Amino acid sequence: MFINGEWVDARSGATFAVINPANGEHLGDVPDGAREDAELAITAADAAFHDWSMTTAYERADVLMGAWTLMRERADALAHVMTAEQGKPLRASAAEVAYGADFIRWFAEEARRLTGEWLPSARSNQRFLSVQAPVGVVAAITPWNYPMSMLTRKMAPALAAGCTVVLKPAEATPLNARAIFEVFHDAGVPPGVINMITTSQPAPIGDVLTTDPRVAKLTFTGSTAVGRVLASAAGGSLKRISVELGGHAPFIVMPDADPVHAAKGAAALKFLNAGQACISPNRIYVHQDHVEQFTATMVERVERVKTGNGSHEGIGCGPLVNDAAVAKVEAQVDDAVAKGASALVGGSRLTDGELAAGHFFAPTVLSGVTTDMAIYREETFGPVAPIIAYDDPDTVVDLANDTNYGLAAYVYTNDLSTALRTVEALRFGIIGVNDVNPTSASVPFGGMNDSGLGREGAREGLLEYLETKTAGIAI
Ligand code: ADP
Repeated sequence: MFINGEWVDARSGATFAVINPANGEHLGDVPDGAREDAELAITAADAAFHDWSMTTAYERADVLMGAWTLMRERADALAHVMTAEQGKPLRASAAEVAYGADFIRWFAEEARRLTGEWLPSARSNQRFLSVQAPVGVVAAITPWNYPMSMLTRKMAPALAAGCTVVLKPAEATPLNARAIFEVFHDAGVPPGVINMITTSQPAPIGDVLTTDPRVAKLTFTGSTAVGRVLASAAGGSLKRISVELGGHAPFIVMPDADPVHAAKGAAALKFLNAGQACISPNRIYVHQDHVEQFTATMVERVERVKTGNGSHEGIGCGPLVNDAAVAKVEAQVDDAVAKGASALVGGSRLTDGELAAGHFFAPTVLSGVTTDMAIYREETFGPVAPIIAYDDPDTVVDLANDTNYGLAAYVYTNDLSTALRTVEALRFGIIGVNDVNPTSASVPFGGMNDSGLGREGAREGLLEYLETKTAGIAI
């Protein structure tokens, strides 16, 4: 764990094991923190806040640019840590390292663009000044699926704003978090400004982070169920809250779209990170005129995806995070097949040879998916592409919107009016138009309804760590 600028054990001395999900290899042991450790971390962050918040934006930007440089220099080593601990193929890990580093650069640049406003008064002998101030100590809780970029997406804006941080990474990926903390530490972030508690028991730590009055803000990325619990707890002490939660993304192929192009996009997107992404398509609506060609292209693409240990050459789909994840995907596929869907490729766990030691599910294409199936409503978080044929382009957006989630959505169309009208009608925070990668450090990322509150990335992502101060000045 990292508290007040030092690598420390848990006060209890307890540790827990970190396992490679592809082969069960024991990668090491990390401190198993408890409440008292979280309290120490908050104390350090609280003590460091004043001095850090008083640094100039230029100084903070310089430290962040240093971290960006280090992260790029270490890119290869970081990608190997990620693949070993999280499982995604090495190329995907390298892409995430680059994406994660980009948040640091973006917010380093934004730090120096923070300005205030000079506002009018109704009185001639008064002036108003409005400025942005850092909120204080930030508690950050991060997931395992994007185990580096989800840290930089929170830490970089927090640091740019002048906040200090206590971060709790997911229990599956503490080594990724350690590597990111080494980057920031080596870049010269002062002691106490960033702190990390690793633990195998997140609930007590979550309780401390959401109730301690010294914490001003909670930022969380993870499941809707946990986010709801944490946001409620943090609301009790009126902390500022941003939560990025689950999704159930629709992917709409309009009648005027090119079904082959759309299928290639869907295949590339769906199997990213073995489907373990909150923006992964979970309902693929294909107009009935295109279903045959779309499905054939998708199946042909998916048949070519090699599943296995992400550190091996040519692997396109890595393991799932653990056996419970495989069991959930299996249950959704079995339920769909029992209710009439067909698994055109895949459809089951993979346990042949060396895959038996990991948590693998075959990349799967399901056709004939209908509204009564669990997969139509529940987030899958696995490599399964559910295809739904529709006939009325005027109502497909209503089908897409028929979910409590509101994170990502995709539409394929060659008609500008259809594209714009669909973007306007979809109730989702992130929309890809003929585009399967509608994310970047420079754009707001976040969801509506059960997908969360607040936005990360872009200028909005910085504002989440700031609050407004107004000065009325009599002259
Ligand atoms: P997932 O289902 O994707 O694993 P979770 O919401 O369970 O998502 O996990 C996301 C993050 O939330 C992880 O860091 C995990 O340790 C943490 N977490 C899970 N339960 C709690 C809790 N009760 N209190 C605080 N953090 C929690």
